[in-house]
Amino acid sequence: MLICVKNKMLSVLALVLCLVSLLCGCFGSDECRKHTDSDGNGVCDLCYSSVFVYFDFYNINDLHGKFSDADSNIGVDELSTYLKNARKTDENAVFLSSGDTWQGSAESNLTKGLILTDWMNELGFSAMALGNHEFDWGEEYIAENEKLADFPILAINVYDRKTNKLADYCTASTMVEGDGLQIGIIGAIGDCYSSIAVDKCDEVYFKVKNELTNLVKAESEKLRKKGADFIVYLLHDGVGQSYGSSERDVNRSQLSSFYDVSLSDGYVDLVFEGHTHQGYILKDEYGVYHLQNRGDNKGGISHVEVALNTATDGYDVRVAEHISTYEYANLKDDKVVEKLLQKYENQIDFATKSLGYNSLYRSGDYLRQLCADLYYETGVKEWGKKYDIVLGGGFTSVRSPYNLWQGDVTYADIQSIFPFDNQLTLCKVSGRNLRDKFFYTNNSDYFISYGDYGEKVKQNINLNSTYYIVVDTYTAYYKPNGLTVVEEYKKDVFARDLLADYIKNGGLAK
Ligand SMILES: [Zn+2]
Ligand SMILES: [Zn+2]
Repeated sequence: MLICVKNKMLSVLALVLCLVSLLCGCFGSDECRKHTDSDGNGVCDLCYSSVFVYFDFYNINDLHGKFSDADSNIGVDELSTYLKNARKTDENAVFLSSGDTWQGSAESNLTKGLILTDWMNELGFSAMALGNHEFDWGEEYIAENEKLADFPILAINVYDRKTNKLADYCTASTMVEGDGLQIGIIGAIGDCYSSIAVDKCDEVYFKVKNELTNLVKAESEKLRKKGADFIVYLLHDGVGQSYGSSERDVNRSQLSSFYDVSLSDGYVDLVFEGHTHQGYILKDEYGVYHLQNRGDNKGGISHVEVALNTATDGYDVRVAEHISTYEYANLKDDKVVEKLLQKYENQIDFATKSLGYNSLYRSGDYLRQLCADLYYETGVKEWGKKYDIVLGGGFTSVRSPYNLWQGDVTYADIQSIFPFDNQLTLCKVSGRNLRDKFFYTNNSDYFISYGDYGEKVKQNINLNSTYYIVVDTYTAYYKPNGLTVVEEYKKDVFARDLLADYIKNGGLAK
């Protein structure tokens, strides 16, 4: 127990030193049970070693499955090299994700996130917060990824409607350890339930606002009791505005739409955010940092180095920065990406072959309108004999890279632009809702298509009549639209599949 007793022959000096050490709680010349630093010089008064233990947190937000190098983003091959190097140089490097990790590329979507989860295992991630887009394929796929993951999927506020307990695939918090100190990590999803297709999350509900604050406070107290020296909060929500990469102070009202600043009063020490795809490094009135990066592996990642003071039990944030993709884009690729592409080859190979030629640059709006046209045509073909279909379309939102360049087009290309797995549905709608929600909607995410019959109805809608339209499931189940689902189209045929067929038939070649 007495580390300073190394020789059988005790010198008087050693004895005196040991007694002093015991009195001060310091147990030896180079290993103290508890350092003291009365002059605040960062060195233990007794054993002269540093009182600081460093932790380096590397957080990724909204990666959206960007696994391979593409026109508009780099892949995770260079990022893997960067993170592995960081692990070699930083004593305690902790890799985290604040959500929306999986969905948004062919490699990830075709493996339903598994290739990304596998990658996170290989790199040794400690935790990932659940994002709204983790629900895009349905809860069973979150559960499947959770089974594969060597790290917990954190969401303290996702509750099972039946059991009224935390959803099976979620964990409230976790702890990681380094140099005898413990880091608590709590994760939550923001108030974004309505941004998920209803049929993909109907088994759960999210606790938000005060309920969420209370959950996080209670969890923090629990973690502190278990010995947490520092608490990181991964929150899949954030500020709706970019402030760039220089640090800036914010007041509580600038955070209040998603974060209760009373959490910074001793409950959480650092917050990594996501969801809004904005870049910022903010410091709130309690000195707690909030970081987010732009996402899609375009803006880079967030890095915070913290020095935990083992004498005072306080901490200093030594570094709070964005590591831009430029800092790693030219590194040598790590082999892990190649290895995983081979592992999942059967599921993703077809996606990299050309479907056909695209003769012109096609803007996002062009593609969205084209999707609406394809919804309408497909709907009429499928149900037109039985029902008078007024229009097709709905939520045909596009994602990064948002457009198509001239050249050969692969399924992977359009998978990135239309990542959403929403089926076509035939719905009933009242004349009033047909007018307000579709023909004269002010929702810029909605694109519609209709023929002569639709035009006639548009000019003369009977507000109390019932009409038939073809939309995606997201639009169909969005309650304010007031739609009733009549029939669903083939399972596993989504907007991008209609577009793929169109391209195969030379639709974009002219
Ligand atoms: Zn996102
Ligand atoms: Zn999100």
